[in-house]
Amino acid sequence: MNVERIRKDFPILQNRWMAYLDNAATSQKPRLVIDAINHFYQYQNFNVHRSVYTPAQQTTDAYENVRQKVADFIHADRAQDIIFTRGTTESLNMVASDFAMQHVHHGDEIVVSITEHHSNLLPWMRVAKANGAKLKYIPILDDGCLDLDAAKKLITSKTKIVALTAVSNVLGTINPIEIIGKLAHQNGAMYVVDAAQAAPSIPLDVQKFHPDFMAFSGHKMLGPTGIGVLYGTQHALKQMQLPELGGEMIEDVSTTDFSTKPIPWCFEAGTPNIAGVIGLGAAIDYLNQIGMDQIEKYCRNLAQYLADQLRKDKHVIVYGPKRRQSGIVSFNIRGLHAHDAATFLDLQHIYVRAGHHCAEPLVHCLGTEATLRASLYFYNNRNECDRLISSVKKMEMFFCHGH
Ligand code: PMP
Repeated sequence: MNVERIRKDFPILQNRWMAYLDNAATSQKPRLVIDAINHFYQYQNFNVHRSVYTPAQQTTDAYENVRQKVADFIHADRAQDIIFTRGTTESLNMVASDFAMQHVHHGDEIVVSITEHHSNLLPWMRVAKANGAKLKYIPILDDGCLDLDAAKKLITSKTKIVALTAVSNVLGTINPIEIIGKLAHQNGAMYVVDAAQAAPSIPLDVQKFHPDFMAFSGHKMLGPTGIGVLYGTQHALKQMQLPELGGEMIEDVSTTDFSTKPIPWCFEAGTPNIAGVIGLGAAIDYLNQIGMDQIEKYCRNLAQYLADQLRKDKHVIVYGPKRRQSGIVSFNIRGLHAHDAATFLDLQHIYVRAGHHCAEPLVHCLGTEATLRASLYFYNNRNECDRLISSVKKMEMFFCHGH
């Protein structure tokens, strides 16, 4: 992988001052993606699934080709397993509100992990509260990895849903998605995978993970904001209520009744985010060109370098396992609030996130209120990591010396 060549593909990275280390918040966009969206609005801007005229049909074909591209990207059986949404949050809320609300009853259990992003937590909390079900948490071990023994005890015949993030957006740990999926299915539970942080980081394979539902966002994987995916097996999608009714999703309407299009189109009411879909298709092309295996390996190694260097400083606490599993490094500088540290870094154009990263229960479980999080992607380089490391040293000298 030639990172310096890759960096040239990203207009925003031409700003040499900036060290963008907040890729778990959103990724930067290669020119290919920006051009695809521009091209769409300049030459292809016709609505989909409506008109018989040729350009509109061509746009519909382009839109549907991306559905196939997404299916191939995650090894889904068919394009019809892919529903376009606004993003992970919408996808997971659909599963909770339009599937789980109907199928989870009093006394049932929903199992999540303590590593969940709020988007894969609050919707389940609401279902549990509304339906009198119990929400249970798979804990983590001291090194931040999921406690599998606990999971084996928690997932039982009472469990109706297991909802798990594939990659933690705070610790960068890769959860044992395959094993938990087997446990869920052995106990007759539905398995929901939050792949928001996984989609940009590791090869996704639904044939291996066997989720009933899986969600991810375009913007974290080089695509535009406002577009995401809900994958569902046909078996699972058939049991889901339609979240919205309106144009584009019907076959026939009379004054008293209506019939709907088949799955997945019945789940996409109204004019969809066509430009977003086109942009997502270009993003997948770009990722495929580099290869998800390469991306995974590169980010893991770079994060290992960063974590090892940070750990050398006795004032720095690095969270998560010694051996990095993906490109995320959460840490704190003893005696310095994460927000103050991030503000200091900002003065040097080093952009990291400070806070609870929308995973408050996890950050509390780590024994803190907030962490600094450097999230690396394949266009980041050692130079950017070194800038962060030397700034952390500076801060430590200014603010913490003698602590
Ligand atoms: N889950 C995880 C693990 C995430 O990292 C994110 C994004 N930070 C989300 C869910 C939510 O994604 P979005 O904001 O794109 O809906």
